[in-house]
This record gives sequence, C-alpha cells and structure tokens, in this order.
Amino acid sequence: MITIALSKGRIFEETLPLLNAAGITTPEAPEFSRKLILPTNRADVRLIIVRASDVPTYVQYGAADIGVAGKDVLNEHGGIGLYQPLDLNIARCRMMVAVRDDFDYESAVRQGARLRVATKYVQAARDHFAAKGVHVDLIKLYGSMELAPLVGLSDAIVDLVSSGNTLKANHLKAVEEISAISSRLVVNQAALKLKHDAIQPMLDVFALAIRK
Ligand code: ATP
Ligand code: MG
Repeated sequence: MITIALSKGRIFEETLPLLNAAGITTPEAPEFSRKLILPTNRADVRLIIVRASDVPTYVQYGAADIGVAGKDVLNEHGGIGLYQPLDLNIARCRMMVAVRDDFDYESAVRQGARLRVATKYVQAARDHFAAKGVHVDLIKLYGSMELAPLVGLSDAIVDLVSSGNTLKANHLKAVEEISAISSRLVVNQAALKLKHDAIQPMLDVFALAIRK
C-alpha cells in the first residue's frame, strides 16, 4: 500500500492533475467528503487528508509514504527524515513582511527599533530578521495574522501573500519579501527504499508532469 498525505484546498486541487498523470484518480473529493482516508482507483494507493502543517510529520514517521507540503511548512518542520526530490511548482506564493499602511517600516528599521512581529512562521521570521540584524520579539499565531497589527498585537507580520488582496482589505502593505514559496513532494526515506518499485515510477511521472 502506498499512502499519500495531502491537505485540503489548493494543495489537493493542484496535486490532483499530477496524480491523474500517474493514472491515479479519486472518486471522492475531500471538500465534499468527511472521510480522512480516501481510496483511489488503484487498490494499492490511498490518500489521507491532514492539516497542511502536519503533512511532513506523517511522512517523517512513515504513516504516509509520500506527501505534498509547502516550503513554508517544510522550513518550520525542519525536514528531518524527509527526502525532497521534486519542487512541484504548485501553490505558489511569497512569504512577506507586512505592516499597517501608516507604519513607516523603513525608518523603524533604520532607527534600530525593536519590532514586534506576529507570525505562524516563527523559524522563517527569526532567520530573516537575524540576517538583517533587526531585533524582534516574535509572537506565535496560528492564523489570521492580518489582524495583529490592526489591534496593536504587533508592528509587523510575516505571512504568505499571493494576490495581496487580503492585505489591502485590511489596510496593510507588504514591505519586504522573505522568499518565494511553492510546494514540494516529500518522501519517507525508508519507504523509498522498501517500496522503490511502486514509488519511483510515480516520482518519474510527477517530474514529467510538473508545469514549468
Ligand atoms: P490550515 O488552514 O490547516 O491552518 P494552511 O492555512 O497552511 O493550513 P492552506 O491555506 O491550504 O493551509 O495552505 C497550504 C499551503 O499552500 C501553505 O503551506 C502554502 O505553502 C500554500 N499557500 C498558502 N497560502 C497561499 C496563497 N495565498 N497562495 C498560494 N499558496 C498558498
Ligand atoms: Mg488556511
């Protein structure tokens, strides 16, 4: 059995064409099903639906053989025990620093002010500001980061941005790009050896099906 861990939403939707290219189809979409284990047309392949940030953990421990996870999530997880053979070039966005419209980020940085930064991406934020030599107090959040500067929880946030519409709707502006984000295929290293004959052909098909 090959178990593939995916999260609902954009990762599931954008991984589906790659699975289809490998001849794998699912009768049930997770948006319409409450099932967490989804069968596929292949008796030896199943999908499990987990939180985006839990995908690396399932694969690390071998509860899933393969998974799809954003670079943001992999960076926070650390990637221990994971083979990362392919950048799938899906779920693309950018990790950015954002502040309120009326906040002068440049001069705060120039003056060496200590900044309060709220984020789900504590590791990435710590690395970014350390590299810039900016002192920060990091505040860990689990979602809706845009709210933090509006209610005085923080001066800045580190968040993922694609269109920028959410920032705009909340009177925030992006002031710095930290990195480009896309999702990668992750494979359990032991599974790759033990189930090589089933997994390697899938990796080969995915590699060919990736949109450049
Ligand atoms: P959860 O909602 O379970 O807390 P999440 O918010 O990280 O998790 P999604 O919003 O589905 O889950 O995001 C999954 C992945 O998609 C992220 O880890 C990231 O790599 C990518 N992603 C997040 N936001 C965007 C976006 N606005 N545009 C494109 N890709 C994104
Ligand atoms: Mg989300």
